[in-house]
Parts: sequence; structure tokens; C-alpha cells
Amino acid sequence: MRPDPHWLSPEHHLWREQPDHPVMYFSPVVLQQTAQRFLDGFPGLVTYAVKANPDEAVLVNLVAAGITAFDVASPAEMAAVGAVCPEAVLHYNNPVRSTAEVAEAVRYDIASASVDCLSELDKLAPLGTDIEVTVRLALPIKGAAYDFGAKFGVDPEGATALLKEVAARGYRASLCFHPGTQCDDPTAWAAYIREAADVATMAGVRIERLNVGGGFASHRAGGAPDLERIFEGIRDAVAGSFGADAPELICEPGRALASEAFTLATRVKAVRDCGAVFLNDGLYGGLFEFRDIFAVDRLRVINSAGEPRTGTSRPRTVFGPTCDSLDQLPEPVALPDTLKEGDYVLFSGMGAYSMSLSTAFNGYGLSRPVTVASLSG
Ligand SMILES: *Cc1c(COP(=O)(O)O)cnc(C)c1O
Repeated sequence: MRPDPHWLSPEHHLWREQPDHPVMYFSPVVLQQTAQRFLDGFPGLVTYAVKANPDEAVLVNLVAAGITAFDVASPAEMAAVGAVCPEAVLHYNNPVRSTAEVAEAVRYDIASASVDCLSELDKLAPLGTDIEVTVRLALPIKGAAYDFGAKFGVDPEGATALLKEVAARGYRASLCFHPGTQCDDPTAWAAYIREAADVATMAGVRIERLNVGGGFASHRAGGAPDLERIFEGIRDAVAGSFGADAPELICEPGRALASEAFTLATRVKAVRDCGAVFLNDGLYGGLFEFRDIFAVDRLRVINSAGEPRTGTSRPRTVFGPTCDSLDQLPEPVALPDTLKEGDYVLFSGMGAYSMSLSTAFNGYGLSRPVTVASLSG
């Protein structure tokens, strides 16, 4: 998808259109560059975790960049991928599925599915045995903003028994894990990789592939995370733990692939005498994740003429537009002293878990993204 030639940047669009609703700006160039970085640096198959941002323009541009496989959690995500790329490879990696969902998945060509208990393995029967089944391992590991081990995965002992059973039933047997989202610590992956090697040994199963999950951190505050360092850590850990008989690797980034390609522009609805600010987007919209992963040092403010507001800033309470008092950013945000109603506050790196989580509560929320040639002002 080519950039809409009308819009050079968010600033250009904001100045010309003066939108009074929050706007997501999308750069296909940045998305494809990020995909290329994973394709060049990750030592294995790069799949995209669709839930991070299932927008059609995202899927189309990832396919254009060379992403051919997708981590899908539901039949709706299978349909979304199928609509833009019928030949895409689907990895069905939500380890909890209803019988009806599995029946629907039969209509798609599922290549791989993850499980974390025997009853879920039983449920996969309608998909046939000509698929890969990955056993999802969970360890009590820190390093992520929040980890998923409390909800999914099985401990090494359970994983060993399940892996044996997967192989005995004639599936291609593999292992997977997910270190938790917004993780920038390579040792989290290394610990999982070591344990995965032990599980395979204990089970006496040569695993075909090892899926090292998503979780790769995006740039939220301070310096950008060093993805290549994580790739290197994964490569070293696999060589150290599996030696010459290493399985092929898969990763399934969502956040780190999607986030940099979008900038969110919100508008100042009101500035109170006390300095508090009301924006036209908040925790029920594109800023949903700020409740759990707060980071606001990547923002810029422009006035309605498109000019940057510079000068001194002070911390201000920031509220969203809905009539719910929970709709407030968890910490004060440094915003210029000169801030006025009608100004725009732009947040960078907002492509993941914003459009997919935004609600229409109270009649607010996000609409279709606007494509721009560049995200910088
Ligand atoms: C959510 C999820 C991902 C993507 O996680 P990110 O933190 O966005 O990279 C990958 N795999 C599975 C199984 C997931 O549930």
C-alpha cells in the first residue's frame, strides 16, 4: 500500500484538516522497515502476532515486506489474515479453544497449534495429525512488563509428559513459550531455551522447532530497545543448549513489529485553571495500555497552526474524554506551559495494542488510520 500522497506527516494533516477526533497516523515505510529488521536479524521464521494490530493495512504491508506466517488466536483473526493473503501460513497459538472454534479452524489450513494440557490436545483432533503441535512451557521468569505464565503454559514436568504424548499421537512435536510482553532482557529467552532443551531431553523427543514467542520490547521511554542484542542472545542460547542438533526457530512478535509504525494525535479539549488537561482520547481509547505500561516521554505538542509548542513544561494531570473518572492517565505528564485548548498532543510508537483495544465507550475512540509519508513533523 503506497502512502496517501496528500499527507506528508501528521502535522500536515492536522494543520489542514483540524480533526476534532483522535487520529492514528500510519507509516507503511516504517512498518516494512521494522519487518525487515526482524527478517534480517532473527535466526528463524518470523511470524506476526495479529492481536497487536489486526488492521488490514498492517497485514497487507507485512505481507508486502515478506512476512508469510501469522500467529492467530481466533477464527476472526484467521479470517482477517486469509482476506489479505489466502496462502499465509497460520499458527493457531491460543492454547485454550472451544470445540466450536476448532471446528471453524478446520476451514483454514492450520500449520501449527500450541497446547498446554492434555484436554486441549484432545480438542485438536478435528485438525488431523498432519500439523505441528507445540507444547507451551511456562517458567516463573521476570524481565517483562507483565508475564503471561500465570495464565498459559505448563511447568517443565508437565511439558515433558505432554511432549511425549504429542509425539506418540503422530504430530510433528515442538515446543513454544512466551517470555511476556515488553521484555528487553535476553536472559529471559535464554532461561526458557535452556529449559526447553531439558524438556526435550527428558521426553526423549527431538523437537522439530522451538517457538520463542513474542514479547520483544518496543520503544516506550528512554533509548530504543536493542532487538539485535536479543536476537544474538537467542542464537547463543540455542547453540549452547542444543548444540549441533538445534531445532529451527520461530518468533511471533506483535508489539515490536507494529508499534513504531503509528503515531497517535489527540486534541486538547480543555485546560483547567489548576493546569489539568482533558484530551479527546484516553484509557478507553488509544491510550488503553497506559494503565499497565506507562510511558510518555515520546510525545510532542503542536498548536492548531501546526507549529511546535516549545518552552518550559510542567507535570499536569491528564484526563480522557469519557464520563468515567477512571479515564485518567496514571501519572502526571509534562506538557508545555503555553498549552491551549485546540492544541494537539502526539504520542509516538502507538501501533501495538491501541487500535485493537480502543473502545467506542461514550461515543469516543479511534477511527480508520490516516496514512502518511513520514511520521516525523
Ligand atoms: C500476545 C502474544 C504474542 C505477541 O506478544 P508481543 O508482546 O506483542 O510481542 C505472541 N505470541 C503469543 C502466543 C501471544 O499470546
